[in-house]
Amino acid sequence: MGHATTSDNSGDAHDDIDRVLVSSARIASRVVELAQQVGNDYAHADGRLTVVPVMTGSLLFAADFVRALPQRRLRLQLTTVSSYGGKNTASRGSALNGALPKHLEGHHVLILDDILDSGGTLRLLRAEFEARGAASVRACVLLRKKIASALSTPCEYVGFDIDDEFVVGYGLDFDDLYRNLPFVGTLKPEARA
Ligand code: 5GP
Ligand code: MG
Repeated sequence: MGHATTSDNSGDAHDDIDRVLVSSARIASRVVELAQQVGNDYAHADGRLTVVPVMTGSLLFAADFVRALPQRRLRLQLTTVSSYGGKNTASRGSALNGALPKHLEGHHVLILDDILDSGGTLRLLRAEFEARGAASVRACVLLRKKIASALSTPCEYVGFDIDDEFVVGYGLDFDDLYRNLPFVGTLKPEARA
């Protein structure tokens, strides 16, 4: 498991970013590690592995992840989950929205998501894919917040545990901005106004 620190952020900067939490270099090496681990764990599932990135936040993560797994024959099927409710974790919920992966019977499903927070997204998708006959369902997130709701949600592969702060970059947005940053960081307060 990687541990987020602020010590290595060479070259990663943006006018609206307060602090870099995970540098582009650390993301790149951790994504390769995760992909290698998954590649080993799913050797038995070659040709029956379906990777399901949750859009749009895991777009960059998924693109880098699957390119680090060229030796595995896998399917890539996108899904979208929308969150509703406010900042209070207890009042929040998640709903399936748009396309769902098809023909999961007998397939080993690996959900890819950008960040594990309330856990609503992973719980919803896991139940859905299990109900649709997947042979197994696991989840892989790039980031997990060090809060009870996230730590208590089953998730087999975690890139980095980070403090409970609102982060952007590497797919994660604020108002649909900042997804294109190659690193993960916090926004300056004035950028969130
Ligand atoms: P969960 O369903 O676990 O509450 O949250 C997952 C989704 O909430 C993420 O995929 C992401 O879209 C959103 N989210 C949670 N925390 C953050 C954050 O710190 N920054 C951003 N940009 N999105 C977040
Ligand atoms: Mg998301």
